[in-house]
Amino acid sequence: MLLARVALPVPLGQVFTYQVSEALAAGVKRGARVLCELGKRKVLGVVLEASERAPEIAVERLKPVLGVVDPEPVLPEELLGFLQELGRYYVAPMGEVMELALPAVERSAALTLEAASVKAVGRLVQVASAVPDAPVPKLRGRAPAILEHLKSHGPTELTALEAEWPSARAAVARLVEAGAVTLEKREETVDPFTVNVPADEPPKLTPAQENAVGAITLRLERSEKRAFLLEGVTASGKTEVYLRAAVRCLELGRGVIVLVPEIALTPQLVARFRARLGSRIAVLHSGLGERERHAMWRSLRSGEVRIAVGARSALFAPVQSLGLVVVDEEHDGSFKQEEGVRYHARDMALLRAHRADAVCVLGSATPSVTSAELAESGRLELVELPARARAESALPEAEIVDLRRIGPGPGGERLISVPLFRALEATIAAREQAILFLNRRGFSPSVVCAACGKIGECPNCAVALTLHRARREALVCHYCDHHEARRTKCPHCGEEALVEEGAGTERIESVLAEILPGARIARLDRDVAAGQKSERILDRVRKGDVDVLVGTQMVTKGHDLPNVTLVGVLNADAALSLPDYRAAERTFQLLVQVAGRAGRGGKPGRVLIQTRQPEHPAVTLAVTHDVKAFTRYELAQRRELDYPPYTRLALVRFEAADDALTQREALRFAKIAKHWAESDVEVLGPAPAPLARLRGRYRHRFMLRTKDRTRLHIVLLGLARTAVDRRVRMAIDVDPVSML
Ligand code: ADP
Ligand code: ZN
Repeated sequence: MLLARVALPVPLGQVFTYQVSEALAAGVKRGARVLCELGKRKVLGVVLEASERAPEIAVERLKPVLGVVDPEPVLPEELLGFLQELGRYYVAPMGEVMELALPAVERSAALTLEAASVKAVGRLVQVASAVPDAPVPKLRGRAPAILEHLKSHGPTELTALEAEWPSARAAVARLVEAGAVTLEKREETVDPFTVNVPADEPPKLTPAQENAVGAITLRLERSEKRAFLLEGVTASGKTEVYLRAAVRCLELGRGVIVLVPEIALTPQLVARFRARLGSRIAVLHSGLGERERHAMWRSLRSGEVRIAVGARSALFAPVQSLGLVVVDEEHDGSFKQEEGVRYHARDMALLRAHRADAVCVLGSATPSVTSAELAESGRLELVELPARARAESALPEAEIVDLRRIGPGPGGERLISVPLFRALEATIAAREQAILFLNRRGFSPSVVCAACGKIGECPNCAVALTLHRARREALVCHYCDHHEARRTKCPHCGEEALVEEGAGTERIESVLAEILPGARIARLDRDVAAGQKSERILDRVRKGDVDVLVGTQMVTKGHDLPNVTLVGVLNADAALSLPDYRAAERTFQLLVQVAGRAGRGGKPGRVLIQTRQPEHPAVTLAVTHDVKAFTRYELAQRRELDYPPYTRLALVRFEAADDALTQREALRFAKIAKHWAESDVEVLGPAPAPLARLRGRYRHRFMLRTKDRTRLHIVLLGLARTAVDRRVRMAIDVDPVSML
């Protein structure tokens, strides 16, 4: 009799065994989905193994597989094997790991057997196209302009034409009658990521690009597995290198995955890929509907589309015969998934590429010290782009503004120093643009009572509430949904002595309006620009409708804004003070990346960094743009303090509504960890997490640190297999990124 080992989407570690009837035996293959009973529920699972029963297994108590969903395995072997290895590495339940690779439509048990036949059909819209080589009819009114537009821009939706020319419909009708234009129904493309883009002319590569492309394509052509670190300063043309490598890979008949940080996944970037690679690209982003996601997944799985671009989850795209995996801005923290299966897409990109005999390219202007160390030890091949691609644009000059020595700026505030103010004035006078960066949204990060000293705190989380003036003076928690109306009296002592402390982007915006009357100011942060809206704001900057753009991290990423010549960092110290061994690395990366927004268009750029720690290497080396020196400095620190990449870390977090219970479980598990650890793994803690309460739950944790990967794995398995009190949530985080 055939038995099937099945991964089910439940948060339990084990894989379940079912018996397979004669009738279903042919369809129960590794990688296929099957319908199974789990308790009283029916759930979809993925077959990991189908094999003849070993004599010692008693089958009587095994439930049968109820049905087979896929005639052919839904997950290709390459992807399935990768997922299993990922699951083992992160000590994650195999069923949850499988879900990473299946779009919701594919995993919904309610849809069960019909799931595979769900077709994606969007709303149909009318699209007008010019008929090539048609004789030009006699035209009047709007018709000539519309025909010209269709010839130069390609097929265009009727609604889009009407937006530009109110009488377009009648004119198109006349053009159709004259045989110059055809009108047909097509699926609606509401998605700004799927618009058609005219093909571009590939630029002549710089010698450094030539060298990088050569190194990468050589390995592609030889089908050698190889991983690269592409270290190229901002605007050095890394994207051009990815494009060339992708084109070559497709020519060789193999597929491509490109991962970018979610925040960098803009229509602008996607347009560059479409312009070079055509429209057969699956763009996987968070704004997709389930149907669209499913349609893309299907077309990748069938091999019809061979390239996937997306944020971290695109790592699991079922691209056929994978040949190249690119991770752009590989240092970016958003590649780490912070819930469920806590994988790191950059680390796992290396694994997937390696297993698929593919080439992996990690690109960044500021490589993570982990990747830099891998390059140093020869496990990544280093290729460099040391200068900006366009000869005329040099890296910007950066200067430090020492806030300890410089008095208050205009308006009596220390937020914008005199030198920065002068630089802003000069930039605006020259009709150029400036970006000001502050990693804090809202008006002020806390409201404090001057009488009793108490800070307004979130009732659910152990953090101060941020005052948001633009949201009707609300006090908002940045960790949970809590918000409350601002009060006039302190809730603790009743005094009317509440003071706004510190500054966020909103406050900077209002200070700028005061000190630079007449300047056009815009703000870019999550409050004004969720999802697509950020593109609209950036578009206004591109068009020259904005003089100063104030923003959070959102302004530091990838944007190409040629007229920006000044970048001001308002407070470099904020990131340095985080309770995280990576604080210096993050600060350095942030400073270099934001500085990289200046002077991309040929005019020289200038960067001013306001700080109270002007001697800190993360600041001084960012000023000189010295990635190598910073990496050396930081690696020496890490070695000294026994931090990654010289050791491995895992965080084990406990959360529950009851503080004492959480602490007790953390303590109990720390003891178990010590038992398994022997002398090879350090157990640090348990202790309350830096964010001691979050969404009404208390948080405790301990950390494991070791040089011995195998032993760490044994300890983590020991923990994962121990039952936790049902009221407590335990999470294992291997190679943690967030230390909060
Ligand atoms: P990065 O990805 O390193 O930040 P980009 O690929 O965005 O850099 O390139 C920066 C700018 O330089 C873009 O406007 C791009 O079109 C241009 N560029 C890239 N390569 C070349 C080249 N070989 N010749 C001319 N311009 C180039
Ligand atoms: Zn909260």
